[in-house]
Amino acid sequence: MSVRDLIILGCSSQQPTRLRNHGAYLLRWNQEGFLFDPGEGTQRQFIFAEIAPPTVTRIFVSHFHGDHCLGLGSMLMRLNLDRVNHPVHCYYPASGKVYFDRLRYGTIYHDHIQVIEHPISEEGIVHQDDAFTIEAKFLDHGVDNVGWRIQEADTVKFDKEKLATYGIKGPLVRELQEKKQVTIEGKTILLEEVSWVREGDVFSCVIDTKPCQNAIDLAKGAKLLLCESTYLEEHRDLAKSHDHMTAKQAATIAKQAGVQKLILTHFSARYRDLLPFAEEAAEIFPNVDTADDFRRFEFPLRDLP
Ligand SMILES: [Zn+2]
Ligand SMILES: [Zn+2]
Repeated sequence: MSVRDLIILGCSSQQPTRLRNHGAYLLRWNQEGFLFDPGEGTQRQFIFAEIAPPTVTRIFVSHFHGDHCLGLGSMLMRLNLDRVNHPVHCYYPASGKVYFDRLRYGTIYHDHIQVIEHPISEEGIVHQDDAFTIEAKFLDHGVDNVGWRIQEADTVKFDKEKLATYGIKGPLVRELQEKKQVTIEGKTILLEEVSWVREGDVFSCVIDTKPCQNAIDLAKGAKLLLCESTYLEEHRDLAKSHDHMTAKQAATIAKQAGVQKLILTHFSARYRDLLPFAEEAAEIFPNVDTADDFRRFEFPLRDLP
């Protein structure tokens, strides 16, 4: 199977610290490289992470606060320098078009690559192909801010024992796939009689928001939820006034959404130690971990038939 993992390139919030860069998150999923919120310094973080920038195929900017986008221009410049020959899709809230343009064209460089912009003005599916869908929903952060849900397409899996029982093999399997049924010795066997549907895996990204229903909807049944938790409960008042969440609130969303694993990020510079975030969240949602620069999380394995 192709690589499927989440690499943390930074996990701070507004201010980077000595130990934590501005946020940036790379989800490597089969042939795609989804880069979320390239904050300042993202290009250099790729070097430390020993990942080639051309891995990136799609860039998502949740909103245009600097910690989520100041690295966009340099990443696009770098992809130009590397002359990537695949298109680079960029998704961002439509109301931030002026900031996107400023960041994209902020410096002199030769524009070789094919950047395909997807300004988001309405919630819903913003991309769909045979492999996956991308869904966007607005979050509650005081400015237009988009959360993302990447869902792998469902796949039909054959029950090998049942295939053998009906004597379906070789070209008949292909016929069954294509026609959804096959006839053997006068008996018609339907595809659903010898197969099951494996629901596609889901990755959700909810960064910079107060708790809201859309965050829960985006995260429903996700195998991995990357979620902001800028503060701890002791600073719940700050979380509220700055339109952010505490670790406990992020854990509550993970629980309500029935996710498999929660990864917390976007930590305020006021905290040096991240362990209290995991401890606070674990009281509500035990399968939690904290992002940290250059940590790599394997995408949870597919279910076996
Ligand atoms: Zn932020
Ligand atoms: Zn923000």
